[in-house]
Amino acid sequence: MVQLKVFRFRQGMERPRYDTFAVADQQGLTVLGALFGAQALHDDSLAFRYSCRGAACGTCAMLINRVPRLACRTQVEALLRGDPGPVLPYYPLPGLTEPWDPRKEVMVEPLPHLPVIRDLIVDMTGFFDAYRSVLPVLQSRDPVPEKEWPMTPATVRELDQYTSCILCAACYAACPVNGKNPRYTGPAALAKLWRFRIDPRERDSARRLGTADHPDGWWACEFHTNCRRVCPRGVPPDKAIGHARQELKTVKKDTGSG
Ligand code: SF4
Repeated sequence: MVQLKVFRFRQGMERPRYDTFAVADQQGLTVLGALFGAQALHDDSLAFRYSCRGAACGTCAMLINRVPRLACRTQVEALLRGDPGPVLPYYPLPGLTEPWDPRKEVMVEPLPHLPVIRDLIVDMTGFFDAYRSVLPVLQSRDPVPEKEWPMTPATVRELDQYTSCILCAACYAACPVNGKNPRYTGPAALAKLWRFRIDPRERDSARRLGTADHPDGWWACEFHTNCRRVCPRGVPPDKAIGHARQELKTVKKDTGSG
C-alpha cells in the first residue's frame, strides 16, 4: 500500500487540513493514478484536475513532495525509493509546513503562488493574465509567402526549445519571484515572448521585446533556474530571459537610452 497525504480545502474552511489515504501500490502507478484510487475508495469529493493523462495537456500539475510536476508523469515507486526529481536550489514555501515522511508517504498539494479553489485545484487566472499580457500569437510579416517561410535548421532548433510549452504553470509555481511578486510576468510568458523575438516570420520582433521591458518583466528574474529544472517539456525560460536582457542592454547602450 502507498500512503497519499493530500491537502484538503474548500471555501468556508477556516484553514486547510491534510488527509491520508492508503492506496494499493502497483507497478507503474502514477500520482494521478493514486489520486483516482483515493477518490474511488475513500472520498469521492476529493477534487483535482486532469485531462490527457499523457503529459501533453499540462492540466494535472501539482506540488508533489514539494516539487511542482505533472501528476500523470510522476511515478509513485520513484518517489518512495527516494528519487527527489528536480532539485530546486532556492524554493521558500513559508505557508506549507505540514511534515511528511518521504520514505513512506507521497505528499500532494496544490501549485503554490496561485489561489486555491478547492483541494488540489488552483485558480489559474494570474498565470493566464500574465501569459496574455505578452500577446502570445504570431504577428506575421507581409507579404506572407504563398508556399512557406524558409528557415535554417539552426533557427528551427532554437525556436523548438520554446514552442513545446504546455502551459502547465509548473515553472510559475516553482519561481520564488512569482511567490513574492504577483505582478511578475513569470517564466512561461517570458519564454513565449522570446520565442516571438527570435521567430523570423514575426513582423516587429524587436518592438515586442519591449513588452516586458519593465521592473516586473525581464528585469525581475533572479535566475534561480527553478523554471528550467521543473519544466516537463525542457523549456529553458531562464535562457530566454538572459538573452532578452543582454539584447536590451546592448540596444540601450547603443542608443544611449539605458
Ligand atoms: Fe509548463 Fe514548461 Fe510551459 Fe512552464 S515553460 S508552463 S513548466 S511547459
